[in-house]
Amino acid sequence: MKLTRPPKPAYLDGYKEWGRKYALKKQQGLKPKWHKKIKQWERLKKDLAELTADHCSFCDSYPLAAKNKQTIEHFRPRSSYPKLAYVWHNLFLCCETCQTAKGDDFKKNLLKPDAEEYEFNRYFIVNFKTGDIEVNTRGSKKDQERAKITIRIYGLNSYGRPKARADHYNWVKNQVRKKKLNKDKDIDILSYRFMFV
Ligand SMILES: [Zn+2]
Repeated sequence: MKLTRPPKPAYLDGYKEWGRKYALKKQQGLKPKWHKKIKQWERLKKDLAELTADHCSFCDSYPLAAKNKQTIEHFRPRSSYPKLAYVWHNLFLCCETCQTAKGDDFKKNLLKPDAEEYEFNRYFIVNFKTGDIEVNTRGSKKDQERAKITIRIYGLNSYGRPKARADHYNWVKNQVRKKKLNKDKDIDILSYRFMFV
């Protein structure tokens, strides 16, 4: 889902200095613990969760804590971009599956859900039958390449995820038919909201 990020919270004000120190320690071959600098760790998690209504920023699974552990993801990985370790725009709430799939991988063309130009439909389409996320072939060559990279790096069609999406889609359709769920009103308690908007 497209994310609209509020301005950087004050408790991250030290980000530049922390990033510099973090990078330096890495350079020295030490293993600095990046979150130690952030006194308001829980607050950061809460603020990132608010941004996504507690969904994973990349696969949109929900609720994170119960289904798939909540982690904080560095869009540009700390291993290659240690100076960006505390940059607000580099931090995302993420499920463990997406984080493990991505690891330290990063490509310049990877799609960022809080980027101004980002729209799900511009890059992707859903195959509702199989649950696969597919590249929108109406997009430009570059857009298609970006979609492809994003699907691969976050493993969006791996780990049985297409089936989970297809099953969820059918379940929601059923609940709506029985009037137990209102797709518009209840959207934020659904996983994979991009299938329902
Ligand atoms: Zn995820």
